[in-house]
Amino acid sequence: MISQEFEYTVPQSLDEALKLLDGGDRKVLAGGMSLIPLMKLRLASPSEVVDIGRLPGLNAITESGGTVRIGATATHHDVETSPVIRAKVPLLAETASHIGDVQVRNMGTIGGSAAHADPAADYPAALLALEALFRVASAKGERTIAAADFFQDAFTTALEPGELIVEVHVPVEESSEGYRYQKVAHPASGFAVVGVAARVKKSGNKIVMARIGVTGMSPRAFRARQAERLLEGGADVAVAAAAVVEGEEANSDLYASAGYRRHLARVYAVRALTTALSRAS
Ligand SMILES: Cc1cc2nc3c(=O)[nH]c(=O)nc-3n(C[C@H](O)[C@H](O)[C@H](O)COP(=O)(O)OP(=O)(O)OC[C@H]3O[C@@H](n4cnc5c(N)ncnc54)[C@H](O)[C@@H]3O)c2cc1C
Repeated sequence: MISQEFEYTVPQSLDEALKLLDGGDRKVLAGGMSLIPLMKLRLASPSEVVDIGRLPGLNAITESGGTVRIGATATHHDVETSPVIRAKVPLLAETASHIGDVQVRNMGTIGGSAAHADPAADYPAALLALEALFRVASAKGERTIAAADFFQDAFTTALEPGELIVEVHVPVEESSEGYRYQKVAHPASGFAVVGVAARVKKSGNKIVMARIGVTGMSPRAFRARQAERLLEGGADVAVAAAAVVEGEEANSDLYASAGYRRHLARVYAVRALTTALSRAS
């Protein structure tokens, strides 16, 4: 199908983009990997598209003061291959490498993926486990939103109309931590039927820090806090992984029933945690 007619604008600065997005029936375009298909299906029909994909500097990746700052238009390929991200937040680089295929990774952006909030997207699991923050801006000002507050429901985030994700801030992982992103990929799209991101820190044989993000299973990605507490309280991996699905709704569709998704979440939590523990020093 062909999309409805729309105006196409390429702002030259972030300020110009924010002013354009202040009111009116306008949509931001970043990599276009989700928005363009939606427009072609006429599930989205904005009267104007504001292309931020080539805004200078908005794809920068830097590190200072224990935080990695990733510009919203950094592509999945940028995230996967950035020396800074590979060295400082390897869980995120590993997660990016699992997204879609080469074409999707070369076009899709971290800001677009987060803003779209597909329940089967990969990044949300890792961003939750990494306790990332979103720096967002609008014509009215700026604020930061914790990943745990950002992903609210299927395709629904804490972004207000006119707000743009400018950067994703990710605290540097300690080098002694172990990490792993493990997913069951849908055979057609590559999206996560279920994906689990795990981080652990050990002291001797004891787990002193555990963070687990789960995507694909529920309408929104979530932190498995009960499982984290169990691990930090000395429970073994199988017991903690069984708690990953507790209190969470499970999606059901033609490909995977709710029961199967819960089963996958438990199994992939065991696998992700086992590898994360083997990588922790
Ligand atoms: C064939 C295929 C396979 C895929 N497989 C996977 C997969 O395995 N795993 C996975 O996670 N994803 C997958 N995706 C989705 C892909 O990762 C998209 O890149 C991503 O969901 C959207 O990013 P984008 O930059 O293309 O955003 P766009 O499509 O340009 O925009 C998506 C939405 O976000 C909004 N938006 C964009 N940037 C911002 C911003 N900075 N601030 C606020 N709002 C913004 C737009 O207005 C729009 O509503 C797949 C996509 C395709 C087409």
